[in-house]
Amino acid sequence: MNELLETARKLDGEDELRHFRDKFWIPPHGNGASQMYFCGHSLGLQPKVVESAMQEELRAWRELGVSGHFSGSPAWIDYSDRLKELLAGLTGAKPVDLAVMNTLTVNLHLMMVSFYRPEGRRRKILIEQHAFSSDRYAVESQLRYHGYNPAECLLQIEPESGGRIIEESRIESILQRHGEEIALVLWPGVQYASGQAFDLSRIAAAGHAAGARVGFDLAHSIGNMPLALHDSGCDFAAWCHYKYLNGGPGAVAGCFVHERHSRDESLPRFEGWWGNDLKSRFRMDPEFAAAPGAEAWVLSNPPILAMTPLRSSLELFHEAGMNRLRRKSRAMTAWLFDHIAAELGGLLEIITPSDPDRRGCQLSLCVREGREAGRRLFLHLEDRGIITDWREPDVIRIAPVPLYNRFEDCALLLGCVHDWAAGFRGAA
Ligand SMILES: *Cc1c(COP(=O)(O)O)cnc(C)c1O
Repeated sequence: MNELLETARKLDGEDELRHFRDKFWIPPHGNGASQMYFCGHSLGLQPKVVESAMQEELRAWRELGVSGHFSGSPAWIDYSDRLKELLAGLTGAKPVDLAVMNTLTVNLHLMMVSFYRPEGRRRKILIEQHAFSSDRYAVESQLRYHGYNPAECLLQIEPESGGRIIEESRIESILQRHGEEIALVLWPGVQYASGQAFDLSRIAAAGHAAGARVGFDLAHSIGNMPLALHDSGCDFAAWCHYKYLNGGPGAVAGCFVHERHSRDESLPRFEGWWGNDLKSRFRMDPEFAAAPGAEAWVLSNPPILAMTPLRSSLELFHEAGMNRLRRKSRAMTAWLFDHIAAELGGLLEIITPSDPDRRGCQLSLCVREGREAGRRLFLHLEDRGIITDWREPDVIRIAPVPLYNRFEDCALLLGCVHDWAAGFRGAA
């Protein structure tokens, strides 16, 4: 075990991104110790700079009042421009095709208003059987809103024979078979429970070949995997900013609309004043003049105080660079994966794909003994300050994120699982 810790510390010493950890608050555990925080996939940690950035915006509001819209630094009127610039690098999109607004589920609804256009026999929505609850509720309520019965019009793909992974080829063959009935494909970039990453270009191409529209939910992809949204060809994408992007609890979310739709006047859309072109926005004309790109979908003026933490965190991503982050992420997750598979494989099943191209940093574990044993391991870790999370029915998710996790954290996690396993075998 000490050997493992030594190796881990050596790897941390060689990590070119190691100083980024000091830019985050790591929650405390016990006297003077910190948590081993493996929950960046659920709620990213607070960058230390957020506090002063918030103070700065409060000062601007205090001292500038309404003129902060134009004379603040940055001015609130174009506050989201910098966010979109920074997000462009993370999403592989042009800033004009991005919007920062609302929250993820709201954005899924707004996107479906435009891109779920049932017609004749083509009215079904295709999702995965184990879709995130909110995505399912959003899709089913959209179907009902259009007067359809979800029992008939929601098409679900289940993983192959009892497994947890869905091959892209399976999605393709279902699209080939049922294509003329499918109006929309809504698919995750990384599946929240299994951690499987999907080939987005391939799914977008298959959906389009079948005549459907294709949208992605990137809640578990953004800040975790490099993305090429424009090139993927998808029609839209939506994500939240509080997971890997550390934008703070309930942070304002993001949205992508492919360039080819930006001037399509036949697309229906729910509109508000902020979607009006800036040139005429404040003329308060009765006619709506759409802003170019995804901005046309923005309803309201941006919540500056809610966007400030996101801005701070995006600057850190920019400084670290997604390529370097991904390189570290692949190395750290593979290291953890290999140790678990080699030393704890009898106890734990890793349901996340072993191929690093088919996963981000998250690994999802099931205790082979069953749900109860899994709950006990999860609580055992939590008691020792090792923060993972539990997803029903039986999954422990761990995400060593490259911005603030260390190989040392992974070594301590492994040590703790080894201890538990020894006790577990002793009791059995
Ligand atoms: C986290 C997550 C959500 C949460 O949506 P909010 O509307 O931001 O609360 C929705 N869908 C998926 C796939 C998620 O991972």
